[in-house]
Amino acid sequence: MSATTLGAATPVAGTTRPALEIRGLSKTFPIGGLFSRKAVRALHQVDLSLGRGEIVALVGESGSGKSTLARCVARLEKPSSGEILLDGVDVLKRDRFQASRAYRSQLQMVFQDPFGSLNPAHRIEHFLRRSLAIHGKAGSAAETQQRLEELMATVGLQPDMLNSYPHELSGGQRQRVAIARALAVEPQVILADEPTSMLDVSVRIGILNLMRKLRDEQGISMLYITHDLASARYLADRTAVMFAGELVEEGESLDLLANPAHPYTQLLVSAVPDPARSGSYDPVRRAELRAAVMMPASCAFDGDPEQPCSAEQPVRHRVGSPENRHWVRCHLYRPAAGSAGHALVESKVS
Ligand code: ADP
Ligand code: MG
Repeated sequence: MSATTLGAATPVAGTTRPALEIRGLSKTFPIGGLFSRKAVRALHQVDLSLGRGEIVALVGESGSGKSTLARCVARLEKPSSGEILLDGVDVLKRDRFQASRAYRSQLQMVFQDPFGSLNPAHRIEHFLRRSLAIHGKAGSAAETQQRLEELMATVGLQPDMLNSYPHELSGGQRQRVAIARALAVEPQVILADEPTSMLDVSVRIGILNLMRKLRDEQGISMLYITHDLASARYLADRTAVMFAGELVEEGESLDLLANPAHPYTQLLVSAVPDPARSGSYDPVRRAELRAAVMMPASCAFDGDPEQPCSAEQPVRHRVGSPENRHWVRCHLYRPAAGSAGHALVESKVS
């Protein structure tokens, strides 16, 4: 068995520095009041990187820690430990105020709820103008007007909608405004936390296509958080799977979703309706796992008492050929005979 060193920071050969790199990110929330020692381990040692112009999907059941990850990266939440590098710069080490101003002009977040994110008292124009002004992107009156109209066109809205109020827009249109507001800042990275989950099924695809267009035409990197594996397959170059605050599997979306190696990923995949497959979905097992995700004592998949994940974190194993960048972290994983799968010895990132 050959061993390869795979640090979280290791770029894929031929690529440049990642747009965003998360190293060893952990977050614990104290619960039960001031003097309680209880805590929820929302994130544990998460390593994840976003290449330039790459969309990475972060998938997992509700409660697995996806939003906490995005909120830590957006600096809405303070991580317990870890590093967040934006374009190679460790943002947690920067002065707090500066970081928030400079940082937000490089990284923007789009939230799940397009209804809650726009103050109903203002016209659409206000939100976009404000975003331009805060980040120093406003020019002369004519230039600003042109920029507003360009932003509307980019997100597929008519310019006369600038005069509308949020309640006059549909959910899909509001989410487009939220995206335009993020784009006004000209960010390198967008974190989109379940951006379509509150929208009608019929308009979801339009938002996904818009995100794809922004990647292709503007080279924006995106973390697309979702519990919808079909949309991850449709949109994302790579998919990372989060289980109980840890990443357990990651790879090129098509390969990962066609050949899931972790039992949790297999379960998620089995729950996606697929006419070509029948009888693989086990609702009882899924309910058990949901419970395990909410309050994990140890890994719910661990059938082998000799190797409990709670005692020793499993190492990463490569799954299939290296170009799929597919790995899994599970004691139960056994590569198929003759396959390229092998343990990747993890190096501590300095
Ligand atoms: P997801 O977005 O995948 O549904 P979250 O990141 O929202 O998951 O939550 C992960 C875990 O962290 C959950 O157990 C949740 O209850 C807990 N959590 C999130 N935010 C807080 C908070 N502010 N205080 C305490 N616990 C929290
Ligand atoms: Mg969430």
